[in-house]
Amino acid sequence: MKFQMLKKKSKKIVIGSNNDGKIKEIKDLLPKYYIITSPKDYGLKSPKENGNTFLKNSLIKAKHFSKKTKKICIADDSGLEIDLLNNQPGIFSARWAGKKGDFNLAISKVYQKLSKVDKNWKSKKIKARFICALTIYGLKKNPIQSLGVINGRISKKKIGNKGFGYDPIFIPENKRLTFGQMSQKLKFKNDHRAKAFKKIKKFL
Ligand code: IMP
Repeated sequence: MKFQMLKKKSKKIVIGSNNDGKIKEIKDLLPKYYIITSPKDYGLKSPKENGNTFLKNSLIKAKHFSKKTKKICIADDSGLEIDLLNNQPGIFSARWAGKKGDFNLAISKVYQKLSKVDKNWKSKKIKARFICALTIYGLKKNPIQSLGVINGRISKKKIGNKGFGYDPIFIPENKRLTFGQMSQKLKFKNDHRAKAFKKIKKFL
């Protein structure tokens, strides 16, 4: 086992994201023989995400960063879908936070829209899910892709200051705490990103 591990030469991989929360989480999931880099290390900005699905957008990012850096790239496209809002914000999850990435703004937008659709939404269970599409580009001849989903509901209040993005308003199924209240260890164990990663980790 030890010998096998030593035989694996360390390789550089780019985590194709400029979102620190995502980089942290993907870094944790990757085997330790990878030397982790991110687009910032190469002075690269994110490409335009003009795909209409999470899978297409994660491919756009992974291909872009892999071609620019000539390295293997793993990129994620993810977001929150809320049933009552016809699955919004979905692929627009990051864009709801505006140019400055203000998630207080994105979260108030969620609450405003919910109140507009149903002013009694707080007395109901508002079903939602986080979705993560992962793409590894530059490792095999064809891109490797997977999708991970975690179901849950929207919290009536924004609670917790851990995590990032919509974490303070998402309560995963069979739990009482929001992702924003959970330790990283607990969240990373079985969230949408971990689920997507489990399906493709055999390639790395
Ligand atoms: P993109 O994939 O870079 O377009 O952005 C996805 C957006 O979805 C992020 O900016 C977050 O707002 C949100 N998101 C994705 N995964 C998570 C998560 O694990 N917790 C909280 N928000 C998330």
